[in-house]
Amino acid sequence: MQVLERIRAAENWSHKTYLAIVNDHAKRTGRLFSKTELMDGYRKLVGMGLMAPDRELEARLLRKPVRTHSGVAPVTVLTKPYDCPGECIFCPTFVRMPKSYVPDEPGAMRALQNDFDPWRQVTSRLRSFEATGHTANKVELLILGGTWSAYPRDYREWFVQRCLDAMNGVDSASLEEAQRLNEDAPYRNVGLVIETRPDAVSVREIMHLRKLGVTKVQLGIQSMDDRILALNKRGHTVEDTRRAFRLLRAAGFKIVGHWMANLYGATPESDYEDFQKVFSDPAIRPDELKIYPNSLLKETELYQYYLDGRYQPYDEATLIDLIARCKAHVPRYCRINRIFRDIPSPNIVEGNKKTNLRQLVQNYIVEHDLPRCQCLRCREVRRQKVRASELRLDILPYETDINREFFISFVTPEDKVAGFLRLSLPHSPEVVPIDEIKHAAMIREVHVYGPALGLGKDSRGEAQHRGLGARLVAEAERIAREAGYRQLAVIAAIGTRNYYRRLGFELTEFYMMKSLRPPRDNFSLINRQ
Ligand code: SF4
Repeated sequence: MQVLERIRAAENWSHKTYLAIVNDHAKRTGRLFSKTELMDGYRKLVGMGLMAPDRELEARLLRKPVRTHSGVAPVTVLTKPYDCPGECIFCPTFVRMPKSYVPDEPGAMRALQNDFDPWRQVTSRLRSFEATGHTANKVELLILGGTWSAYPRDYREWFVQRCLDAMNGVDSASLEEAQRLNEDAPYRNVGLVIETRPDAVSVREIMHLRKLGVTKVQLGIQSMDDRILALNKRGHTVEDTRRAFRLLRAAGFKIVGHWMANLYGATPESDYEDFQKVFSDPAIRPDELKIYPNSLLKETELYQYYLDGRYQPYDEATLIDLIARCKAHVPRYCRINRIFRDIPSPNIVEGNKKTNLRQLVQNYIVEHDLPRCQCLRCREVRRQKVRASELRLDILPYETDINREFFISFVTPEDKVAGFLRLSLPHSPEVVPIDEIKHAAMIREVHVYGPALGLGKDSRGEAQHRGLGARLVAEAERIAREAGYRQLAVIAAIGTRNYYRRLGFELTEFYMMKSLRPPRDNFSLINRQ
C-alpha cells in the first residue's frame, strides 16, 4: 500500500521514478515488487474498498503502456498449418507452421504452444493482458496464417466461433449464437481482421467474411508491377489487386495493404516508383499499410536465387534511405502500421536484421532534413491528454475509382489525431456488390484514441470518453445527407452493435443501418433511394 501511495503521489513520472521507488522499498524491506504484483495488490485493495480506483495509478503500473494505447487490446491468433495456393518465392515453408510463418516469431510460438486451438490462444492472451494490468474488454481479433480464404469454410466458421466463445466465457451451439452472446460479453470483439490474397476476393467471399463478422482485411499487394509479381511467382496481377480493393471498399471493409521492397527483380529506384503507385493509383489507396522489406530466409525458393547470385538483399543503409523517401508520399488518411516484419534475426540470411528499423528511419528523416511523414500513425495522440474544447474538425475528401472517401478527424492544435472516421460515398449503386447496402453511404471505420478503458470507467480527459465517436458519426450523417443519401450503413463489429443502436442504427443483415432525413432547405439534391 505504501509503495502504491508513493507511485501515485510521485511528480514528473518516468520509468526512473518507478525504479527509484521500488528499489528504495526493497532496500528497506527486502521485498522487490514487480509491476504485475503491484497491479494485483492494487486491484485487491480496490476490491476490498481500501483504496479508491485511480486511472492515473493504473497507467503507471502498466508493464507496456503502448500495447493498448489506441484503446483496443489486439489479440493475435494463428490458424492451423495448411496449404496456401500461392507459390511466392520469398515465402518460407516450415513443417509445423501455417504458410509464411516462422516458428520462433512471438505470435507463432504462442499458437504452437496452444496447438493452434482458437479457444486456448484467445484465453491465454486475455489472461496475459489482465495479468499485466491491461484492460482487454475491447478486443481486436487478428487472425493470421497463410491465406484465410484457402481454408475450408466450416473450419473458418468453427475457428471464429471458438474465438468468440473464449471472449464470451461460455460455449455456444453455433456461430450465430456466439455472435449474439458477444454483444454483451465481458470481452467484446470490436474488430475482426483476416489476411488473404487479391485473387481470392470475390463477391461470394466478401459475403462470407461479413457472415463471420470480419471488419478489416489484410491484402498482399506486394508490388504494383506485373513483371515483378510474375518474377516472384505471386500468381496474380495488379488488376486482380485493383478488383479486390474495389470489392472490399464498396462492401465497407477497412483495407490493410502489404507492400514489399527488395523483391526479386526490383531495385531501390524501381521500388521508390512502385511505392508511389500504391497511392497515385485511384483503385488502391489503402487505409493502412505494412511495408515489408523482403527478409531472405533459407526456407524459401529465393534462397537458391541468392546462392547462385541472381538475388542480393539491399544493405541496411540503402533500405533506410528508400523507406525514408517513401514515407514522404504517404497521405494523411493512411496509417503505416509496420515497416518490418517481426522475424527473429537468426532466421535472416543477409540484409536488414534490425527490428527497430522504424526508429532508424525516423532518425534518418530528421538527420537528412527529409519531409516528415504525415501518416496517421505518426500523428496519433497516443496517451496524451486532450482538451475537447481545443479539438478542431478536419475533413479530408479524396477519390478512388469507385467512391468518394471522407477522412474525418478531430485534431489537436499540434495536429495530433484524437479520433477519426472513414466515410464512403459510392459513385453509383452499381459499384456496390451487396444488395443490402446498394443505396447507402457507408461508415467504414470509427476510431477514437486513448488507452483501453474498462467499459463504463471514467477516463479523465483521455480521448475515448469525450463523446468524440458520436460527434464523428453526426458529421458523417451530415455529409451523407447533404450528398443526397437517405441511408447510412456501418460495418459494425459484433461487440460494437449496442453502441451503434444507441446512435439510432438497426441491425439489418450483415450491416447496421440508419435512415437519414433529407436536409430541410435543399430539395435540389439527388435522392439516392
Ligand atoms: S500467398 Fe502469402 S502465404 Fe501464400 S505463398 Fe504467397 S506470401 Fe506465402
